[in-house]
Amino acid sequence: MPDKSISTLDWVRPEIRQLSAYAVPDASGLIKLDAMENPYSWPEIMVDEWLADLREVSLNRYPDPSARNLQLALREVMRVPASADLLLGNGSDEIIQLLAMALRHPQAGVRSVLLAPEPSFVMFRMIAEFTGMKYVGVPLAEDFGLDVEAMLVAMAEHEPALVFIAQPNNPTGNVYDEESLRRVVEAAPGWVVIDEAYAPFTDRDCLPWLVEYPNLLVMRTVSKMGLAGLRLGLLVGSPEMILEIDKLRLPYNINVLTQLSARFAMKHAEVFEQQAAQICRERKRMMQAIADCEGLHCYPSEANFILFSTPAGRARNLHQALIDKGVLIKCVDGSHPRLDDCLRVTVGSEAENDVFMNSLKSLL
Ligand SMILES: *Cc1c(COP(=O)(O)O)cnc(C)c1O
Repeated sequence: MPDKSISTLDWVRPEIRQLSAYAVPDASGLIKLDAMENPYSWPEIMVDEWLADLREVSLNRYPDPSARNLQLALREVMRVPASADLLLGNGSDEIIQLLAMALRHPQAGVRSVLLAPEPSFVMFRMIAEFTGMKYVGVPLAEDFGLDVEAMLVAMAEHEPALVFIAQPNNPTGNVYDEESLRRVVEAAPGWVVIDEAYAPFTDRDCLPWLVEYPNLLVMRTVSKMGLAGLRLGLLVGSPEMILEIDKLRLPYNINVLTQLSARFAMKHAEVFEQQAAQICRERKRMMQAIADCEGLHCYPSEANFILFSTPAGRARNLHQALIDKGVLIKCVDGSHPRLDDCLRVTVGSEAENDVFMNSLKSLL
């Protein structure tokens, strides 16, 4: 007889029960400027061409397990070094999870550590926690730059199997001083992943660094360039490293609709490049408007979003008041001590940004 005093939930790992699920707010009816989505649609002729391609898809067949043709298209558009290999994930979130599942400290009995500067992308901490790694966050410097000395001390102490560095960083939007970033990569004992989710909106590109640093991987995604609904991320690195991670990847993780649609999108890369350029122009206009508002401080951004601080204690009220006016942005106040009084807004279309800026002005 089973022990009746044990409830069904007692079979769940305690560290999982302690977690709260990643919350996505309801945005119905609102102008959605909270999740770094591209606001633009495709030219009608391009939609027709895509629909024609979709007609040919065999949904009864499994997808190509390694998505060969899609890999070739991504390599070309993203200018991946010839010596590097690719691994595709169901979003880069899945790739972070694969890496966390695969790596460990080489010495038996030593707890494996995932280290990242913070504040940064929340998934680094969440995935470390649910895969059983210990998470170590190293505070960024006052200006949100890398605190190289603190990073070196923390890496010497914790010997992280994995270091994640997002550039441009989310939610701060900045890029790092190149020399500082190189020093961190060089000093890391284990694997380093530079997460370039916002590559379409900056000139920074660490893919060429792959030939210099054997412990380095670069991660990209098509989400922020305008294909968040497809769920497709990629990891770029040496064939030896990619081969090990690929063993953990479930065989058909990139479905046929995503493979076809992403290949189609890569054929039209110039459309997405123009949209990214438009987003960068709008970013400049919004940063100026936010900076001109009494009491707001705007942080520099090379991404498709802007972090800004509000007068002390006002962030949550402003966030709710914007929702009441029909605009959803992200309140990051309370998510990290360095983000107190801060809000993060995604750059939308010109019309959406106008509504946001006019609403903001009227509330101050
Ligand atoms: C949005 C984001 C991702 C997630 O990308 P997906 O491919 O949509 O999973 C990864 N890293 C950073 C820093 C992000 O901001």
